[in-house]
Amino acid sequence: MRMILLGPPGAGKGTQAKMLKEKFRIPQISTGDILRKAVADNSELGQEAKTYMDGGRLVPDDIVIELIRERIKEDDCDSGFILDGFPRTIVQAEKLSETLETMGLDIDTVIDFEVDSQELITRLTGRSTCPGCGAMFHGTTRPPKQSGVCDFCGAKLYQRPDDNRETIRKRLEVYENETAPLKDFYRQRGKLKSVQGRGTVEEIFSQVLRLVN
Ligand code: AMP
Repeated sequence: MRMILLGPPGAGKGTQAKMLKEKFRIPQISTGDILRKAVADNSELGQEAKTYMDGGRLVPDDIVIELIRERIKEDDCDSGFILDGFPRTIVQAEKLSETLETMGLDIDTVIDFEVDSQELITRLTGRSTCPGCGAMFHGTTRPPKQSGVCDFCGAKLYQRPDDNRETIRKRLEVYENETAPLKDFYRQRGKLKSVQGRGTVEEIFSQVLRLVN
């Protein structure tokens, strides 16, 4: 199964991708996670990506397209993958289709998570992330059992540098201008399925499973 999780920052793509990964035993491919790792490693890629990420802007298409091209050719993607945070522009979507076509493959489903922007701002400003396993928590709606510590792997939680009000506003604007048009792109290809991203993570996951099965 090859699927794309589409939706604005804070819509819950990462959380749902992790649940889908466990359920279907296929990898979650998050360009955001790959880029954050590159920044933490201070690699050439990370140094280039950092200024874009800190400003809430998109990293140039050619960089992320190449990352994905390489990643989906790896053996663990043979029975499918979950793309989380890619594609984010029409060019990325077109290049992804081209790459898959050369491999004799296609995307099966695109799940679009719909959440209103005020709710997204509340979620992102209160969000803390685990650097170890990528789990996400929220100060009021999903607090960790022990303050500042990941429930799953015990690592110390941190707030992503781009989860601040100003950068969040920019990320949401970039989403509307650059990424939201992908809904029409995939709707026209008969791939788009929408989920209301409100409720508990388990409720949203049930909706996702109904659409995928
Ligand atoms: P995310 O973790 O998906 O919210 O991504 C964090 C940041 O990484 C974004 O704000 C972008 O700067 C960059 N990024 C992640 N995925 C992409 C992508 N597909 N295209 C361009 N930039 C990306």
